[in-house]
Amino acid sequence: MKTIIEPFKIKVVEPIRMTTREEREIILREAKFNVFNIHSSHVLIDLLTDSGTSAMSSLQWSAIMRGDEAYAGAESFFHFQRTLRELTGFDHILPTHQGRASERILFELVGGKGKVIPNNNHFDTTRANVEHSGAEAIDLVIDEGKIPSSRHPFKGNIDIKKLVALIERVGTEHIPLCMVTVTNNSGGGQPVSLENLRAVRKVCDQYQIPLFLDACRFAENAYFIKLREPGYQNISVRKIVHEMFDLADGATISAKKDGLVNIGGVLLLRDEELAQRADALLILTEGFVTYGGLAGRDLEAMAQGFQEVVEEDYLEYRIRSTAYLGERLIKIGYPIVEPPGGHAIYIDAGQLCPHIPPKEFPGQALVCALYRAGWIRAVEIGTLMFGGEGKIAPLELVRLAIPRRVYTQSHIDYVVEVCEELYDNRSQFAGLRLTNNPPFLRHFTAAFAELN
Ligand SMILES: *Cc1c(COP(=O)(O)O)cnc(C)c1O
Repeated sequence: MKTIIEPFKIKVVEPIRMTTREEREIILREAKFNVFNIHSSHVLIDLLTDSGTSAMSSLQWSAIMRGDEAYAGAESFFHFQRTLRELTGFDHILPTHQGRASERILFELVGGKGKVIPNNNHFDTTRANVEHSGAEAIDLVIDEGKIPSSRHPFKGNIDIKKLVALIERVGTEHIPLCMVTVTNNSGGGQPVSLENLRAVRKVCDQYQIPLFLDACRFAENAYFIKLREPGYQNISVRKIVHEMFDLADGATISAKKDGLVNIGGVLLLRDEELAQRADALLILTEGFVTYGGLAGRDLEAMAQGFQEVVEEDYLEYRIRSTAYLGERLIKIGYPIVEPPGGHAIYIDAGQLCPHIPPKEFPGQALVCALYRAGWIRAVEIGTLMFGGEGKIAPLELVRLAIPRRVYTQSHIDYVVEVCEELYDNRSQFAGLRLTNNPPFLRHFTAAFAELN
């Protein structure tokens, strides 16, 4: 088998610059050891997130020039609508400026006090929007999904028994919809099988509960189904994508992920009456129904991006290149969430640095070490992100998210070399102490001092 290459060539380049260790030390200290405070021009390889960081294609850039900026009835909207209809089979297609805008509209309509929303794992903005409406967000991922070393092929699956037990306990009248996140971002970018989606659908039918997808990474999930689910090896990704959406009554999408754009979102609905109420809220806070908080050119870029993301040579490269980073890290000895997910590799920093207790943020210690040694930006997903008030996260992870079509294999080889160097020095990483501890979403604005 030959190397799976990047299925594109590079037409436009954006220079990145190396610094000295002394410069990085000053920058890290000035940022108070929080990499969210660092200017992106002071980062060499930015693995903070895969959201909105994709490189657009020449066809997307040329589509931007076709953007119809009419307030009402823009042709760009109808182009976007046709593309999404063909891909998903949905009739009601609302453009929004990003995923959380779709979530806010949806949960303002169906959420509220006393309501309960099941999901495999709520993403942080989804949970925040559910809770902001007054409802409760409950995570029901299978047990294997919580064990980093488990190599279950579909670790994003919902535990069907737990779903039934929850419905029986709280009653259908309190569950306005059930959600499934594909792939399961908060659970390590792990996929959900069609078998599991069908089983969730069956339970939802039995209790007459609508099923919604948080479909930010629908194409990556479909490709995992093609690779791993028996019977799907010869089925096209487009067909699998359609099959996933056919099982749902609605979906929220952040196009900043599998839409291959820098900004954009979608809300998909089947129910006519719900769609009318969503249109009204869209007009109130995002914009008219034919642009929804975006420019016509953004709709054109999305329409083209949603076509390109289901191309199978792209997905083969995408999933393979993420796995490549994961496999190289495992070879060095890094404990990671296995098997590698679609959009990111998650290092288990708690296991890597047993000398740093959770309250001293082993994940953040590794994030700082990556920046010092290689000018690489990663993000802590552990007690800094999910803890507070003495609470400790179940796992101390560091996420290396891979922007789509941005870095080449030699960039990733460089990341691996930095990680290799760090591995031998891991016992010298220093824990951190909070000097500013904000009450909400503290990881964005927290400040630290290093312990010795
Ligand atoms: C990114 C993301 C969202 C929110 O989308 P934004 O575009 O960042 O608002 C929701 N759910 C999942 C699973 C995501 O990854």
